Amino acid sequence: MAQAQKITPRTKDFSEWYNDVIMQAELADYSPVRGCMVIRPHGYRIWELMQRALDDMFKATGHQNAYFPLFIPQSFLAKEAEHVEGFAKEVALVTHTRLRATGKEGAAAIEVDPESKLEEPLVVRPTSETIIYAMFAKWIQSYRDLPLLINQWCNIVRWELRTRLFLRTTEFLWQEGHTAHATETEAEAEARQMLGVYRKFQEDWMAMPVITGRKTESEKFAGALRTYALEALMQDNKALQAGTSHNLGQNFARAFNLQYQTAAGGLEYAWNTSWGVSTRMIGGLVMTHSDDNGLVCPPQLAPVQVAIVPIWKSDEERGQVSGVGGQVKAELEQAGIRVELDLRDNMKPGAKYFEWEAKGVPLRLEIGPRDVAAGQVMTARRTGGKAPARLDGLARTVGGALDEIQASLFKAAKDRREAHSIRGVTKPQFIEFMKQSGGFAYGGFCGSAACEAEIKRATAATVRVLPDPEFRSPETPKTCMWCDKPSVAEAVWAQAY
Ligand SMILES: [Zn+2]
Repeated sequence: MAQAQKITPRTKDFSEWYNDVIMQAELADYSPVRGCMVIRPHGYRIWELMQRALDDMFKATGHQNAYFPLFIPQSFLAKEAEHVEGFAKEVALVTHTRLRATGKEGAAAIEVDPESKLEEPLVVRPTSETIIYAMFAKWIQSYRDLPLLINQWCNIVRWELRTRLFLRTTEFLWQEGHTAHATETEAEAEARQMLGVYRKFQEDWMAMPVITGRKTESEKFAGALRTYALEALMQDNKALQAGTSHNLGQNFARAFNLQYQTAAGGLEYAWNTSWGVSTRMIGGLVMTHSDDNGLVCPPQLAPVQVAIVPIWKSDEERGQVSGVGGQVKAELEQAGIRVELDLRDNMKPGAKYFEWEAKGVPLRLEIGPRDVAAGQVMTARRTGGKAPARLDGLARTVGGALDEIQASLFKAAKDRREAHSIRGVTKPQFIEFMKQSGGFAYGGFCGSAACEAEIKRATAATVRVLPDPEFRSPETPKTCMWCDKPSVAEAVWAQAY
């Protein structure tokens, strides 16, 4: 049990558990730079699988990848008033470009060369709206140049004081889509379309159910007309914002003079959208599915979907079981399954099981001499359940098991979310709910920012979204659950990451 005991149980300390799962699964590690993390190969492979699936979906919806600079002139950020206010407190600045030797010892051996001060400081991108729309303004002249549909995979920096692996780090990886359209209707359709793409990815690949909807004015992206978001409920009943899609209106087009000639010959400002998801999703995946034995990874995103562990006592048995193991591996790979054959001599099978479990491998195949004689292997699911499977047609059996695991993870997460959701909530219920278990609370909302702020102060809960129709309660609330004034929209509250 050596491996498993290194993981703090969820009930004891959820946050410790989260860190332990990540460290044990070797997804990431702390770095010498405060607030920055190292994504280790097992974690980076999950990101690669996420990227591949999303990138295919972006391309299928007509987007192209491009790359823009890491540095943004400070003045660019200042051009859109709300935007600069939203990011001013967390930007890293480059002010000098050189160091020089001092002739002293140790850390004092080098210093900033004052001669190298930049005339205009450069911001390390906290997001790229400003520099991208400055370029769009160069490239777009007429309505024939629209829509322009661009995506960028990159890193960004937001100077965070309180950081957590994957969830909040100073530097993180993401994609940011940026588009320009001729009309508000087209921009709105694009923002909604990409929200749908994210939802499909998070539900079908991550097996993570999400609620979609619109952010309130106080929770929207700095500089956007409207922000849409996807919200998932983690196992500690806190919400995780898993992605956002913004209709930016003409705010950035005005700031960067992004105009186009209409078919009729007039000049109009373009309409923009931006949308992004990040490595934060890996944190969401961990907190949605994992257990006290470590990572549980949905098969669609598992770096290793199947681990084969041969069991032997003698050299003769070793040759026999590893031979069959090799055949099974080849057969599964042929079927497009990501598989590892664990032939390590210095570890007992039990220790191997714990290691693959901690790493979240959905399915383990155990092959002993008796299994070989019987023409079968033993299958063990990460989510529980052992059963023998015939060597004949094994790839099909394994493929079916992986599909079942994927579906059962989604169902379990959705059932858990619904069990921790409360609808038609009243103020006393709301206060009690947020004090006790927490979760998604649905209720009427008056739309007032002051009321929203008071709820946040009193309960630490924020409006996650004004949910899209399919998530709304059958009965439309008539009054604000907090202040009793008429409700303008149903809202979903939760304490959040
Ligand atoms: Zn109210």
